[in-house]
Amino acid sequence: MKAVRIHQFGGSEVLQYEDVPDPRPRKDQVLIRVRACAMNHLDLWVRKGLPGIRLPHIPGSDVAGEIVEIGEYVKGFEVGQRVLVAPMYFCGQCPACADGRQNECAQFTVLGNAVDGGNCELLAVAPINLLPIPSRLGFNEAASVPLVFTTAWHMLVECAQLRPGQTVLILGAGSGVGSAAIQIAKLFNARVIATAGDEQKMAKGLELGADHVINHYKQKIGEEVRKLTNKVGADIVLEHVGSATWDESLRSLRPGGTLVTCGATTGWDAKIDLRFLFARQLSLLGSYMGTHGDFQEVMGHVFAGRLKPVVDRVFPLADIRAAHEYLATGQIFGKVVLTP
Ligand SMILES: [Zn+2]
Repeated sequence: MKAVRIHQFGGSEVLQYEDVPDPRPRKDQVLIRVRACAMNHLDLWVRKGLPGIRLPHIPGSDVAGEIVEIGEYVKGFEVGQRVLVAPMYFCGQCPACADGRQNECAQFTVLGNAVDGGNCELLAVAPINLLPIPSRLGFNEAASVPLVFTTAWHMLVECAQLRPGQTVLILGAGSGVGSAAIQIAKLFNARVIATAGDEQKMAKGLELGADHVINHYKQKIGEEVRKLTNKVGADIVLEHVGSATWDESLRSLRPGGTLVTCGATTGWDAKIDLRFLFARQLSLLGSYMGTHGDFQEVMGHVFAGRLKPVVDRVFPLADIRAAHEYLATGQIFGKVVLTP
């Protein structure tokens, strides 16, 4: 089959579109023909080098495809069935997994991170990771959902315990996590204040349901949030930008508010004044992907049409270098999808 592999870490030039042996599914696995694989910022981090990656490596986390072969121990699926792959790997046996907290498993990793991913034509996966796709949802749309919607759901609903009517500040409306989080927060009838970097993204943020969008280059986020909330601040701040917005994100919280973060795209060096933390009784929470339950729950809302995939652009898998360079520009709204 054709696959994208990296044999060394580096810039987009290390991405090789090449022939590799077809994977052989084990008796307890299912073989999927990949029809679409969405990109995430993780793809860029993996390409540049992360601990735990064995080379050569196939990146790619969000896969939608068709079943082509079913191992003899697997029941309940059919050849030809359209399926989505949950982008997480876990042991399934440890106390955390048994308790449904798969993202706390010692072996937990995201598909395409410490294990080979979906930038290829064929993928062997465990049946627990498969979810049938309803016929009205296309492969590109389906593939653009799992990682970012599961992440945003876990952050808002599980970590920050979002309640109806709360005020939520969402950084980066145009990012995958941001565009998912706006919709999830609106599902809870929250008041959503989002941020974006240009007029076009601001307009799209409003279209997705945000009540207000702040231009994070031209306006001070903390000041604007205070203005919009009658000097109170936001109940929840959803962070993933990192160094560039950390101070403003903290300033935007109301006393007793919760900041939840899942990333540090602009850098991981952040400071906090401890007097501010305890006197304002803030909660700072870290979040990594989500549980299998989060995935199932959020996909139910997507399949019912209550949450919508946001696809920015589709590239052929062969144009992987151009796709990486495009994602790195940040001039996108929603997801970039690769088709083998
Ligand atoms: Zn486990």
